Amino acid sequence: EFKAEETSMLVDNEESESDEGPSLLTEFERIQKERENLPVSKASADFIKLLETNQVLVIVGHTGSGKTTQIPQYLYDWSVKRGQKNLIVGCTQPRRVAATSVAARVAKERGVTLGHQVGYTIRFDDKTTKEGMNATRIKYMTDGMLLREFLNDPELSAYSAIMLDEAHERTLDTDILFGLLKMLCAKRHDDFKLIVASATLNAEKFSKFFEGAPVFTVQGTLFNVNVYHATKPELDFVEAAVTTALKIHLQKPKGDILIFLPGQEEIDDAAHMLEDRAKKVGKNEMQLIINPIYAAMAQEDQNKIFEPTPHNARKVVIATNIAETSLTINGIVYVVDCGFHKTKTFNPTTKVESLVTVPISQANAIQRMGRAGRVQEGECYRLYTRNAYNNDLLPDIIPEIQRSDVTPIVLLLKSLGIHDLFQFEFLDPPPVECFLSAFDQLYSLNAISDSGDMTTIGLTMSRFPLDVRLSKALIAAANVYDVLGPVIDIAAMLSVDGSMITRRFNQFQGPKEGEDKKNANSFDTDAMRQLGDMGDGTGDHMCLYKIYREWIHQKTIQQQSSYWAQSLSLDTRYLRRGEEIRDQIERLCDDVGMDINRDMDWDDTELSERIRKSLLAGYFGNVAHASLAIASKEEKKKPQGKRNKPLGAQLEEVSIKQVQYTTELNGREVFVHPSCIGIRHPPRYLFYHTCVYTKKEYMRQVSMIESEWVAEVSPPGYMEQMKGLLKGKKEQTHQQKKDDDEAEQIWQKLSQ
Ligand code: ADP
Ligand code: MG
Repeated sequence: EFKAEETSMLVDNEESESDEGPSLLTEFERIQKERENLPVSKASADFIKLLETNQVLVIVGHTGSGKTTQIPQYLYDWSVKRGQKNLIVGCTQPRRVAATSVAARVAKERGVTLGHQVGYTIRFDDKTTKEGMNATRIKYMTDGMLLREFLNDPELSAYSAIMLDEAHERTLDTDILFGLLKMLCAKRHDDFKLIVASATLNAEKFSKFFEGAPVFTVQGTLFNVNVYHATKPELDFVEAAVTTALKIHLQKPKGDILIFLPGQEEIDDAAHMLEDRAKKVGKNEMQLIINPIYAAMAQEDQNKIFEPTPHNARKVVIATNIAETSLTINGIVYVVDCGFHKTKTFNPTTKVESLVTVPISQANAIQRMGRAGRVQEGECYRLYTRNAYNNDLLPDIIPEIQRSDVTPIVLLLKSLGIHDLFQFEFLDPPPVECFLSAFDQLYSLNAISDSGDMTTIGLTMSRFPLDVRLSKALIAAANVYDVLGPVIDIAAMLSVDGSMITRRFNQFQGPKEGEDKKNANSFDTDAMRQLGDMGDGTGDHMCLYKIYREWIHQKTIQQQSSYWAQSLSLDTRYLRRGEEIRDQIERLCDDVGMDINRDMDWDDTELSERIRKSLLAGYFGNVAHASLAIASKEEKKKPQGKRNKPLGAQLEEVSIKQVQYTTELNGREVFVHPSCIGIRHPPRYLFYHTCVYTKKEYMRQVSMIESEWVAEVSPPGYMEQMKGLLKGKKEQTHQQKKDDDEAEQIWQKLSQ
């Protein structure tokens, strides 16, 4: 039975079915029925015919018509007939969750084990088989992973075809793939096919980019969806979404609900609120099954959203825009659309890239609405006014390439030998300032030379699927400071989704509805203090390092390491993920000849200093200095004379959250994020890993440094440039005093 499952991809379906056990047979049969009824299946013959005579096809069809799950299978089956059975069909997805979940579905459809003939590759998670009988032939992958594949295999010689899926999303990586794949098509004219798939109907742009490639439209039926707009603007969309969903649950006939919210925090909040309130409604109501879904969720939990809803129950799926087009959940009849999503923005002047919650576009709103009309007539509740829809929402999204930091892309293209980026064909080019900012960044990291050529350091950096600054930190740790091991640990911990520390404290930023406010808060601060105490007081980076090492230690000395983690309120899933990522970064280091065994046995102070210097070698552009201490209430009560102290002395008396910092690079006012746990006393100088905007701009993951370190770790010209920025050498030496004076003036004003 098991064997049949693994090899059935190579035989045809009838044969494999007869080998299956009776219970499997029915599920397998049911799935085949579902497949046959998909709109794409009805058009498969026409699709193949077009494929025979065209190298590039654009395919357009509503979400759920079967593009993602079926087309790669057709492509593979067809390429087998052309004698390319040992080549791979790749299908890119902008989202990791989509890549993993669709791969699981297709493995099931073909009756094979996930990771064998059908597999997926996402960053730091490769579920494919390279060789042998079970070698992966249909591979779902994030667009970023296909980009990296070009580094190992510039001609993609292992692939017979690529499907560039969800092209309408216009992610940065997909946009770059457009250009690269166009070049590849010219090189491999006879043995390579490209399919561009899109859920929206404006595919002409894609067709034009590929010199008039045919557009193949899949006819699907979409049932009518009634749209209801809010009559007045909703201030709290989480609350409004929960109320609306409950109303639907209590008043409307059977049918599942899909709620769109911007991010994990809102989704978790809404899930808790719904759960609480659903308990309070009458017992004879249908059971409400609540299924949140977002990228950082564990695989098993993600799969729950696809389970058929039991009789006499109603499912509520609460999702980010992942459920807009990349995942199809059967049975949705009601959609609740909050009107917002999270997107990346990049400011080339400040060089800050951040995720912000902004209104969706009309195109997004239409896609969201469409989710309600797949199985029957549906209803869509928009938590914004009709007026807002008409006047405030942009017609379409702005491609990510026009609002992103393109530094990693410039590095990647350069390492692929594409030197003149202005010659590269973009669907829409990034703004020139973004290019310049990228060159600036790469130059300051020594990744490119004066003449704009790639350096050895740049080449090494491009091998790591990490932020370029983090890659640079690894190189400094290996080549200069001999602390590669610890810096790998930290890089891995920083790469676990938003870092485990941040996530942990996101969950406890405030008590959930119905929770005791006091308890939740004291728990929060206790856990933070305990974790903070594990570090050496110099910052979050050392803290992450110590926590990670302690976890590894606990695992070796006892079976109960999860018990230890629990006592510190650490989520072991993130620690385990960190460990996996760590191993992969170490392997990559090994590949490029960076040696962990060169690490020396430093004493604690020396080690801490060297680690922070290594990190600073990547992040010297993120240095900030203390510029103002904000008086506490007690302090304000003191007599005037006692308050008049220089900034240095004030720093000793306040907590880090009371200090305003100013960034060296462009003088932005920033604060330390409340989730920072690793610094005991507010330092004069620090560097940060990322910045987030809420009401103010906050630095996340900070560590203290000495100001002289910047000159030590940055390239020769950098300090001069900095001084130039601060208008002359003299002023810079006076800068601190000026800050002190300024601080004192504001201090006095505040205390009046
Ligand atoms: P499209 O790419 O055109 O939006 P898909 O190929 O993703 O369509 O989906 C086709 C069908 O496959 C849908 O009806 C959906 O219900 C089903 N499907 C897709 N992924 C899964 C999954 N992980 N589990 C169960 N069913 C799935
Ligand atoms: Mg799809």
